[in-house]
Amino acid sequence: MHEIHYEAPTSLEQAVGILAKHGDSARPICGGTDLLIQMRAGVRRPHYVVDVKHIAALTGIAFDPKSGLRLGAAAPCIEIFENATLRRHYPGLVEAAHLIGSLQIQSRASVGGNLCNGSPAADTTPALIALGAVARLVGPKGERQVKVEEFVVSPGRTVIQPGELLVELLIPPPPPHSADAYIRFIPRNEMDIAVVGIGAAITLEGDRCTAARIGMGAVAPTPLFAAKASQALVGKKFDAVAIENAAQLAIEQASPIDDMRGTAEFRRHLVGVLTRRTLERAAERARRN
Ligand SMILES: Cc1cc2nc3c(=O)[nH]c(=O)nc-3n(C[C@H](O)[C@H](O)[C@H](O)COP(=O)(O)OP(=O)(O)OC[C@H]3O[C@@H](n4cnc5c(N)ncnc54)[C@H](O)[C@@H]3O)c2cc1C
Repeated sequence: MHEIHYEAPTSLEQAVGILAKHGDSARPICGGTDLLIQMRAGVRRPHYVVDVKHIAALTGIAFDPKSGLRLGAAAPCIEIFENATLRRHYPGLVEAAHLIGSLQIQSRASVGGNLCNGSPAADTTPALIALGAVARLVGPKGERQVKVEEFVVSPGRTVIQPGELLVELLIPPPPPHSADAYIRFIPRNEMDIAVVGIGAAITLEGDRCTAARIGMGAVAPTPLFAAKASQALVGKKFDAVAIENAAQLAIEQASPIDDMRGTAEFRRHLVGVLTRRTLERAAERARRN
């Protein structure tokens, strides 16, 4: 057992200072629902864990109808689920956050941790991609913003540099007549990792689709933005033909693997099924907005 120092800074400057000083031997910890398990398994062996839950900039949830949502990286999933404003404006993100583990896990786990862990199967990442979310990072060299679809670079690896911290996720305000949705497939009812997860956000004007974004999880080494499938919907009548076309384009972009949770062929089939269902669910909500 190696020695581990626990740090609990209360400001962003302090946190970045500690992380920058210790480089690769330091790691931020949020809910710890990924990191502690990885440490126990010996996959990660940080000498410094920097608890970011005491920094106000990382725990806030603030919605403004004009500028959208600022979601603190460390805000626990349960607060997202219980937030009436988020349930109203970002139901897909809420359903993704509410799928993570159990209520106990959701009381600890954060959307920021879900993204920074870099899993291709993370549930909230496709939902964030569908919403066009941008990650705000702060580090020793200053601040930068990265689109969520560019954040994970390979399984377990992200764009985060030593010393950097994900502070918050910036999510645009939902336009009128728009909505999002997230659906995943798991072989059990709960407490499992997505075999495939699809997030979608669409805007409708009458029977036309004027904007669409589809995010996909567990179908490639990183979560994906289904650009062609999304673009194919825009400007078209939103009907069964358009939905099927988008589903086929999403299947074409997916490059899943065979593993213990499902074959690549089964995953491609699921991409089609879940893309159709997620788009239909988002559209049903959009028509009410
Ligand atoms: C029983 C169980 C069930 C689970 N079920 C699901 C599920 O259904 N779906 C799913 O997607 N996941 C699931 N998970 C995985 C995990 O709960 C999620 O990935 C969770 O969102 C991680 O958040 P966290 O705050 O606990 O992250 P942590 O474990 O604290 O951190 C995760 C990683 O991100 C880094 N990190 C954390 N915060 C920051 C930051 N602000 N800046 C930079 N780096 C940071 C850490 O160093 C670490 O590498 C499950 C885990 C368990 C134990």
